[in-house]
Amino acid sequence: MSSLRDLLAPIDQFESRHSGSADSGELAAMLAQVGYESLDALSAAAVPEDIRLPRRLALPEAVGEAAALAELRGLAAQNQVFRSFIGAGYYDCAVPAVIQRNILENPGWYTAYTPYQSEISQGRLEALLNFQTLVSELTALDIANASMLDEGTAAAEAMMMCHRIKLGGRSDAARFFVSEQCHPQTIEVVRTRAAPLGVEVVVGDHRSFEFGGAEGGGAVPAIVGVLVQYPDTRGSIHDYEAFFARAHAAGALCVVAADLLALTLLRAPGEFGADVAVGSAQRFGVPMGFGGPHAGYLATRDAHKRQMPGRLVGVSKDAQGQPALRLALGTREQHIRREKATSNICTAQVLLGVMASMYAVYHGPSGLRRIAQRTRLLTQILARGLTALGARVNAEPVFDTLTVGNVAAARVHAAAAARRMNLRQIDAYTVGISLDEVTTLAEVETLLSFFGETPTPAPEAIGALDYPAPHARQSAYLAHEVFNRYHTEHEMLRYIKRLEAKDLSLCHSMISLGSCTMKLNATSEMLPITWPEFARLHPHAPAEQWRGYRALFDNLEQWLAEITGFAAVSLQPNAGSQGEYAGLLAIRAYHRSRGEGEQRRVCLIPTSAHGTNPASAAMCGMQVVPVACDEAGNINLDDLRAKAAAHAAELAALMITYPSTHGVFEPGVREVCEIVHTHGGQVYMDGANMNAQVGLSSPGFIGADVCHLNLHKTFCVPHGGGGPGVGPIGVAAHLAPFLPKDGRKGNPTTMAGVAEGEAVNSGSGAVSAAPFGSASILPISWMYIRMMGADGLRRATQRAILNANYIAKRLEGYFPVLYRGNGGLVAHECILEFRDWKPRGVEVEDVAKRLIDYGYHAPTMSFPVPGTLMIEPTESETRAELDRFCDALIFIHAEMSAVASGEADARDNVLKNAPHTAAVVSASEWSHAYSRESAAYPDAHTRATKFWPAVGRVDNVYGDRNLVCACGGMQPLS
Ligand SMILES: *Cc1c(COP(=O)(O)O)cnc(C)c1O
Repeated sequence: MSSLRDLLAPIDQFESRHSGSADSGELAAMLAQVGYESLDALSAAAVPEDIRLPRRLALPEAVGEAAALAELRGLAAQNQVFRSFIGAGYYDCAVPAVIQRNILENPGWYTAYTPYQSEISQGRLEALLNFQTLVSELTALDIANASMLDEGTAAAEAMMMCHRIKLGGRSDAARFFVSEQCHPQTIEVVRTRAAPLGVEVVVGDHRSFEFGGAEGGGAVPAIVGVLVQYPDTRGSIHDYEAFFARAHAAGALCVVAADLLALTLLRAPGEFGADVAVGSAQRFGVPMGFGGPHAGYLATRDAHKRQMPGRLVGVSKDAQGQPALRLALGTREQHIRREKATSNICTAQVLLGVMASMYAVYHGPSGLRRIAQRTRLLTQILARGLTALGARVNAEPVFDTLTVGNVAAARVHAAAAARRMNLRQIDAYTVGISLDEVTTLAEVETLLSFFGETPTPAPEAIGALDYPAPHARQSAYLAHEVFNRYHTEHEMLRYIKRLEAKDLSLCHSMISLGSCTMKLNATSEMLPITWPEFARLHPHAPAEQWRGYRALFDNLEQWLAEITGFAAVSLQPNAGSQGEYAGLLAIRAYHRSRGEGEQRRVCLIPTSAHGTNPASAAMCGMQVVPVACDEAGNINLDDLRAKAAAHAAELAALMITYPSTHGVFEPGVREVCEIVHTHGGQVYMDGANMNAQVGLSSPGFIGADVCHLNLHKTFCVPHGGGGPGVGPIGVAAHLAPFLPKDGRKGNPTTMAGVAEGEAVNSGSGAVSAAPFGSASILPISWMYIRMMGADGLRRATQRAILNANYIAKRLEGYFPVLYRGNGGLVAHECILEFRDWKPRGVEVEDVAKRLIDYGYHAPTMSFPVPGTLMIEPTESETRAELDRFCDALIFIHAEMSAVASGEADARDNVLKNAPHTAAVVSASEWSHAYSRESAAYPDAHTRATKFWPAVGRVDNVYGDRNLVCACGGMQPLS
């Protein structure tokens, strides 16, 4: 190409916006610093020769931002947005515009990371505390967590909780009762989860179910818990009190999957005996999005709080004694408890939980009640009209859903389709209708017209809106000020902005979290997620309405298969942890298909592995056997050989992260795969570190059998302050039949056209409630790959490796780089050693907190090695930003040296007292041995832009000793 032709290339070419700077002078200077001539020379030195991909990825040529958006518009146009009355856990709702623009579409909220550094996360922690308060008050249970991945997995987690509480870790045979009137996808996800644990799921009618079990003579295994839906999936509202009393008498725990909106009018689960409540907060202002992402929820009684899965926000105090929030009871979680963790959930659904909580803040208790009453009134009007037409509908009480019998269903569906409306398909004589927040009286009139001609009953004709006893809600909820103050848009806008301002996000500075890959979440990638063609589809809509989604899934699966070197991909898992679970399930199913399922249960996991690995293996009924690492941070091949041989007959899998969690391209990885294969095991590759592989190598090429990807790491889905995530898995051909069930083949029982309850047991069952998981955020990764193309992706990987090595080079004179691979190079992240400072008076946590004073989020602390920092800059940072970060650490090194030498006081120093709040620095009294200036403005950059932490250092121990997980605890501490 001539240079004149080059000049005509589109201006909005994306790669140079994504990967550091387009300035080739900058690139050359950085390469020189690291000691290489070109990116190719650098990656050839870093990546072991035997795993270097011999060819270019086969992906479509990159296009500019506008062209990619135009192409995606074309796909979106193939989706048809019908009004959906399908229900089954998904309802249309009005996303308040102030929340859509200022949270969902606002990088200040969506680019924040999981709130591990609580001092710079008080905004989202407060919003999550509101979410927990909302859930715990509506369910009338003592404690709720800060979101689950969806309703189906929340129910499955509740089942596992019952199992743990009742059996205390013993693996005795057990049963779990599930009402047949639960949402079908919930039943499926619970079934999938139960199988590897050896729990038998009994699906039936709660009214006629007979508990037997140990108390009935020991003939059948004990029932550890029961699960019912409230209101049930067909719209009926049961009084479960007597059933729960029977369940408790039989030694079972009681779980209710409850609709949060209905609970504003109905007696709360905690008031009729529930031990656990689960569900979805989708209809609280989160788009249906063809199934996700949404915030699931889980609440329980105080007695069971240590058995809860997921993240929990609690109130504590800071160094100045002021109330401060942080994640609580971390000791339940997988990074500490490994295979004994309460669950494998790491990334959850923070952004969606924040949206739902803000919806409740905006409407307040009376607003929510009005939305519920309005929905109920319209449902009653519809019921009356249908009855007049001779149809059979549920008896009172109902809330939003009617099951309409005695009708010619095909004719009704055809009439509805002609008006671009979807009803729920049940059978030839029965249809389901669920109303929602946006239903109008005119729509009810239209709905009635599908069944015959009748005047629409007048609202005045509906006698009683209030539920009779025992169904009526008597208890109050959401009395806290936060739910009663921000009901005008100005107040709401300012509340959202006030919280946002407390949180450090990618809008402020590089967040160099090792293993978590916080790269650019480009605006062009984000724009499509709120297009109605993606946002407003119901996950059970008929297939002809989601042709555009189908094309997008096909593209993305094909591209990800090419990138991972695998034969097939499933997009269903809702996070990396769920991908691990789905991948191990595929391995389990493969062994079973060969008649080896029972004995092959050992999962080898290096001691350096992420905590989700052993936790996921435990969920699949596998026995975790740790494999040692050598002093270079690599898997100890001798130990691996010995363990693989010792367990040859039982070996199911090895889980390996590549490049290793130590940030190094291990040279022996092909051999690792061979050893495992020789002994009949399968190799699971944790793809969290794919940002160092894309275009240079691949799990399939290396010899693994399955891997998960974190689209919220490598493929630009933002972290959302702790979720959403997407954790697709890629598998080699022999595992393809064992992927989670796929909605495209029309086989999930929940899909239109397949009768409910018809079990289709291909694959490993469903691992998420929706067949394509968090479908509505897949356009983000589609855009990324489309705009980067094969060369752009490869160069991004190379640039990520360059950036990490550049940092290692700049800092090695100050802090030793713990692990290195070929040529003394690191991969895409580097671990810096701080342990030797502890005896000299400075802990790694002091460094992390001091970085806040410099305007930075700390890198990953103490994973995978305690007392270290793991820095992953990604390709998206310029040299200027990398330098600023390195300079901050070099300044801090001087501060540390002053403490070590005794020049600074051992206790009263800038490190121990970090971070410094504006209140502290500006207080009339200043009694420290150092200056206010060195506290708050330690370098020139902080003078130009200062990010003030909202609170001082948070006391974690105090919070866990005095656990408070709802808004009431935010009163100033005495
Ligand atoms: C992030 C991560 C996971 C878990 O992914 P989630 O999406 O948070 O569940 C697993 N392994 C490694 C190495 C990770 O970095």
